[in-house]
Amino acid sequence: MTDLTKRQFLGAVGSTAVIAALPKSVFAAPLSYDLAPVQVADGIWMIEGRTEYFSAENGGAIVNCALIETEAGIVLVDTGPSRKYGEALLDVARGLNGRGVAGVMITHHHPDHFFGNQVFSDKPIHALPETRALAESQGDGFADNMYRLLGDWMRGTEPAPPNTDVSSSVISIGGRSFETLPLSGHTGADLAILDQKTGLLIAGDLAFLNRAPTTPHADLPTWRAALDVLTEKNASAILPGHGPLDTSGASLAQTRDYLDWLEATLKQAALDGLDMVEIMDEPLPDRFAGMGAMPQEFHRSIAHLYPQIERDSMPLGQ
Ligand SMILES: [Zn+2]
Repeated sequence: MTDLTKRQFLGAVGSTAVIAALPKSVFAAPLSYDLAPVQVADGIWMIEGRTEYFSAENGGAIVNCALIETEAGIVLVDTGPSRKYGEALLDVARGLNGRGVAGVMITHHHPDHFFGNQVFSDKPIHALPETRALAESQGDGFADNMYRLLGDWMRGTEPAPPNTDVSSSVISIGGRSFETLPLSGHTGADLAILDQKTGLLIAGDLAFLNRAPTTPHADLPTWRAALDVLTEKNASAILPGHGPLDTSGASLAQTRDYLDWLEATLKQAALDGLDMVEIMDEPLPDRFAGMGAMPQEFHRSIAHLYPQIERDSMPLGQ
């Protein structure tokens, strides 16, 4: 068993033979998510994630999910980082509505947003077609990384890409209608969802609040254009992908401010000839220093974005 990866080992733990061979310590202190739904609009609840990076301590419960009541049952938006998290979400949904879960919508293909999908594979799991393609092509790589970061929390989790393409501007489920906004910029495909009954906007990771935005698949100009679209919606409230409910539009303004600062800082660093470590040593502005997952997220963004910005800053011929 020593040559199994952590993912292969924990993924196989469901089999009786493997369980029989395990040391007792594996079963000590079973892990469980404590998901507390908070009502944020008429018939809409959020599960608020911690504004941290993935850790074995938080189990990857760093993401916001929404539960929306319809006549057919609960519609979930995003399913969390693991199978175990999806099971906890299902328990919450059953507690809110005796009909359980009617369907799922996935905002984008990052693993903290869709790795609970397995639990809902018999339901329609709506997402943009490009999100489905990205989940199919990158899911395995994400899974290896999540097992490494979260360990036992991931037991039995396998990536289950969305199964239903979003191809119309409105989705109706159980008598409730949602405007779908097919955007991108945080990733190659980001779905924002406007609940037509309440005007609540579920922004996915196009909006962060008091938690540093993540950029591993970001295109900054496209992301800014998406923020323009979301701002024009004049939503009654915004559920960001990470951070508290936003009732003032602060998440859109803060995300834009951060992306602008990030890009300007890295461009200036390229002009000054700094290397990555030298940029990491620079102090963060006060307005960003207190964000969750700082300075680690800034450091990751340097690694994601700086090589290209550095290349772009070089005069032709160099
Ligand atoms: Zn994301």
